[in-house]
Amino acid sequence: MKPFTYARAEDAADAVRLAETGDVRFLGGGTNLVDLLRQTVEQPAVLVDVTGLSSAIEERADGGLLIGAATRNTAVAEHRAVRTRFPVLSRAILAGASAQIRNMATVGGNILQRTRCAYFYDNDGSRCNKRDPGQGCDAAEGANRNHAILGASSSCVATHPSDMAVALAALDAVVHLRSAGGSRTVPLTELHRLPGEHPEVETVLAPGELITAVELPAPAPRSTYRKVRDRASFAFALVSVAAVLDVQDGVVTEARLALGGVAHKPWRARTAEQALLDGPATVQAFRAAAEAELAAAKPLRDNGFKVELAVRTITAVLGELAGGQA
Ligand code: SF4
Repeated sequence: MKPFTYARAEDAADAVRLAETGDVRFLGGGTNLVDLLRQTVEQPAVLVDVTGLSSAIEERADGGLLIGAATRNTAVAEHRAVRTRFPVLSRAILAGASAQIRNMATVGGNILQRTRCAYFYDNDGSRCNKRDPGQGCDAAEGANRNHAILGASSSCVATHPSDMAVALAALDAVVHLRSAGGSRTVPLTELHRLPGEHPEVETVLAPGELITAVELPAPAPRSTYRKVRDRASFAFALVSVAAVLDVQDGVVTEARLALGGVAHKPWRARTAEQALLDGPATVQAFRAAAEAELAAAKPLRDNGFKVELAVRTITAVLGELAGGQA
């Protein structure tokens, strides 16, 4: 590990001021960043500890929530308002990691965690455009069972590992940002980038820009999260589905879907949503919508199974949510 300077921020203003000093990373729970430091994938000059920033969960008059970026994942998953009004978020977090990791990991850190592509972490022999731009991508022709089937490029086929961010994408969450230049908000669905020719640029964040909170709009009608993985715990998603659904008199009146484990970012399934809206709440319609979304899939050598897995998981989750409503 390369030596670095440690600084603890008193508040958000202090954090962004410290970030102006140069090559800085913000440190939340450290559940991913510390691994990256150990592997020398990340080698910042300064770590700014932001765990002392807001960890409040503020309830809004319309039923929405404002969640401080330093809130631990456990606190979010167990909060009464999250469990009752946004079960998709609670379930995604509980599916995301062990209790010990959830107790450490923060909301901001979870959103900004980096891919678990093994070649990315192998800083001693593997080629990786995300780690060393222009070097090549060993996953493209290598072991790519866990990699992307949607939105990838010839430069990078990695997936985003967060479960929580997939739920936030389906909930139309808004991310609050602060930098030395001021504050702004960005929809979660627009925060992460597809890899294109620059997979090393993973978000639209400017250098030194800090996530201060995540805002959830008014509660969703019915929502849930399902994660399919190789083991029942301690595994990242092969495919996951976050879904929000409302059905009136057998007709779909609202549908929001996001997929995990399939792309470089939480994948909002807008093609499927359009196919579902104002249509019948039937298994046949759910499967047709899922197939329409996955028609754009470009599987790699080892992960063709993800296409049918995603179709079946979307169909099952929608069927579960429609149960009793249709
Ligand atoms: Fe690196 Fe992306 Fe290729 Fe993995 S898939 S080796 S992260 S460029």
